Order: sequence, then C-alpha cells, then structure tokens
Amino acid sequence: MATYIVLLGSPGAGKGTQADILIEQTGLAHISSGDLFREHIRSKTELGQLADSYMSKGELVPDDVTIAMVKERISMPDCERGAILDGFPRTPVQADAAKIMLNELGSDITVVPYITVPDEILIARLSGRWTCRASGHVYHNLYSPPLKEGICDIDGSELYQRDDDTVETAKKRLCVYAEKTLPLINYYRKQNRLVEIQGNQPIDKVTEDLLVALDIKE
Ligand code: ADP
Ligand code: AMP
Repeated sequence: MATYIVLLGSPGAGKGTQADILIEQTGLAHISSGDLFREHIRSKTELGQLADSYMSKGELVPDDVTIAMVKERISMPDCERGAILDGFPRTPVQADAAKIMLNELGSDITVVPYITVPDEILIARLSGRWTCRASGHVYHNLYSPPLKEGICDIDGSELYQRDDDTVETAKKRLCVYAEKTLPLINYYRKQNRLVEIQGNQPIDKVTEDLLVALDIKE
C-alpha cells in the first residue's frame, strides 16, 4: 500500500524544509499546494491569476480550485508509491476531499505529523525566509543560510523573498491558519493519525523525530 503523509503546522513551522529532506530519505513525491500555485502564477495561467488575488492578501484560495489542482497532481505516476502533502489539506472540506481522492486511488492517509512552533518564532522565520525560484527549496538568513548568499545550494538558482512573507501578511496568514486550519488537528486526532512533533528544535532533530513518527530508520 502506498504511503501518504500529511504535514500539518502553521505557516513557517518547517513543513517545506522537512518535506525536502524526507523525499530524499523516502523516495516519496512532494506535493506542496503553495508551490503548485506559485508555478501557476509564474506561468501566468488563469488559475495563477485567481490564486494570486488570494495569496497576496494572505487568504486561502477557494477550496474547489485547490482540490481540483491537488487531485490532478496526486494522480500523476510519481505519486503511485505515495506522497508528502505539504500545505494541503488546509480546511475540513479539503480534508474530506483528500480522503475521497486517496480512497479512489485505493489508498488513505497513513500518518499526520503535526509540527508545533510558538507563534512569536514563526514571524521571525517567515520574514527571514528565502525561497529558491527553480524548485521552492527554503533557507533562512539566520537559521539556515545558503552556502553562497542569494544562491540555492541544491540547484544553483536565485533565492528570493516571497511577497507574502512580509510581517504584515505573515500575521494575517497565522490568523487564517488559526481560524481555518486548526480544526484539522482534532479531525486527525480523532482518527488516531496525528503525531505531535516539536518544531522548535534544530532542523536535523526535527527530521529525526519525524522519521521515528513515520517508523523509518535512518
Ligand atoms: P512552512 O513550509 O511550514 O511554511 P518552511 O519549511 O518554509 O515552513 O520554514 C520557514 C522558515 O523557517 C524557513 O526560512 C526555514 O529555513 C526556517 N526553518 C525551518 N525549520 C527550522 C528550524 N527547525 N529551526 C529554525 N529555522 C527553521
Ligand atoms: P504556502 O506555500 O503553503 O505557505 O502557501 C502560500 C499561500 O498559498 C497560502 O497563504 C494560500 O493563499 C495559498 N494556499 C496554499 N495551499 C493552500 C490550500 N491548501 N488551500 C488554500 N490556499 C492555499
């Protein structure tokens, strides 16, 4: 049976950072709904234009278009063995849809690591985040700097600061998270799928705890 992992946590909790490490260790695909939207914005598609109007304000893109986009991605051949879902689902409606789309593929969500980090740390993480243009690899000017300033260690592409990583928009995103996404904690806890992970530790220690939660030996 394929393995589908949902990484839950506030914006800035470290989902993307950990997903990039875990895909190397597990061979699973990485599905980041935020990265998929940013790709659409870059390619100037109609969906990109719609998504941008929500993302720039720190609001969620409507469920129907988000679900359709992830459904298309998850049915691609590289997801057959499973995938790490990063940033999706973000609402109870999306969580129900995730279950249905995986059931249609003869599978289900395996485990939901919930990465917790205190709010006051999240703003510092988001406002210091640098993202790689080519594949969305993430760095931090203080906590996780690239070897060469402004350049991604992995693929050499340019690093940029996301428009929604300003202090003001980051605060708005944390409010939206508390209102729309927090209910998923209980949703998955009730299903016995939730495993809490302390995200306020060095990156490699968080990975270690995640590998234990996923029952994968290094
Ligand atoms: P998310 O995908 O949950 O929004 P990211 O993985 O993009 O979060 O991380 C947000 C920022 O915090 C990035 O700049 C990243 O380099 C940094 N970061 C991630 N994990 C840690 C950690 N354990 N300690 C310090 N900084 C971290
Ligand atoms: P992220 O890259 O996960 O930080 O997401 C950046 C932005 O993309 C969010 O603030 C939302 O505007 C949008 N987004 C990403 N994933 C979703 C989702 N599952 N549902 C709705 N909007 C999303």
